Amino acid sequence: MRDGYGREINYLRLSVTELCNLRCRYCMPEEGICKKRHEEILTQEEMVMAVETAAELGITKVRITGGEPLVKKNILSLCAHVSQVPGVEEVCITTNGILLPPLAKSLIQAGVRRVNLSLDTLDRDKYAHITRRDQFSQAMEGLKCALNSGFERVKINTVLMGGFNDDEIEALASLTLNYPVDVRFIELMPMEAGGPLGASAMVPNRLVLKRLPRLEPVAEDGGVASLYRLPGALGNIGLISPVSCQFCAHCNRIRLTADGTLKPCLHSPVEYSIKGLSRAEMKEQFQKAILSKPPCHEELSPLHPSAAGRAMNTIGG
Ligand code: SAM
Ligand code: SF4
Repeated sequence: MRDGYGREINYLRLSVTELCNLRCRYCMPEEGICKKRHEEILTQEEMVMAVETAAELGITKVRITGGEPLVKKNILSLCAHVSQVPGVEEVCITTNGILLPPLAKSLIQAGVRRVNLSLDTLDRDKYAHITRRDQFSQAMEGLKCALNSGFERVKINTVLMGGFNDDEIEALASLTLNYPVDVRFIELMPMEAGGPLGASAMVPNRLVLKRLPRLEPVAEDGGVASLYRLPGALGNIGLISPVSCQFCAHCNRIRLTADGTLKPCLHSPVEYSIKGLSRAEMKEQFQKAILSKPPCHEELSPLHPSAAGRAMNTIGG
């Protein structure tokens, strides 16, 4: 289905839980979140019905996200159902990788073809600082497992933060020289929980181009990422720049949160609830949400934080 600005909306980001086993400073408050009651979260049946409805309206790609999707008890069954929905051609997952090793093969069997793994640093102490959890070795095991389990494609998501990991751009990028992995640098978005990092943490992605002068542009569709490659590399470097360079004109996505709200735009407070609705009512809400997608989001800066009205762990990135 096309939105009011002629954009074809074919990508659903489905956040399956708000809970997480990490506490990344830019995403979640230290104390965690107030756990919602069971009846406030979409059931598996509702999530699958929502994906069926979305597919009827032209969604072909579903990304399972969270919170941390792998902490959800029924994650394998949910993925298996979602990948069986007629019209859904691609199911992928975004995870911090901590719980991936025992689940990877079963996720692939459940139809998950691609995995995006979040990793902001290659330093154990820095990892513990940014995630507020000492789980670096588990995250690296998760990455190894992602690379060795047979996923079609593995991408690393790195949130670029001035004064934190801008000194690791070269080291993170050189993972693409040794492994068949894409490394994508994401500009830090000023969300509610992102405050403690301070204004200097928001650095533009062009810093990556400056630090890696040998990068060559790649003529491939990277979705919201501009793609580059180091000479001889096995994977791409992606730059996702929601702050310095809006890609809204090409936005093809809609988001569904675990508590059952459709978000037409990540940085807008406008939401449409589908919790407890019939299939027909749900479809109407999807149509309304797609048609109310704004042309672009407002300015994002330390002085103009996101108007999302929620922390990122409740949206799904
Ligand atoms: N827990 C999973 C993970 O970390 O991959 C999935 C959910 S997480 C909310 C999805 C993505 O959003 C991650 O790649 C994370 O780095 C990114 N993210 C969270 N908060 C962000 C922020 N303030 N700015 C930029 N990216 C952010
Ligand atoms: Fe959890 Fe992902 Fe948010 Fe980190 S970015 S706190 S891993 S949901």
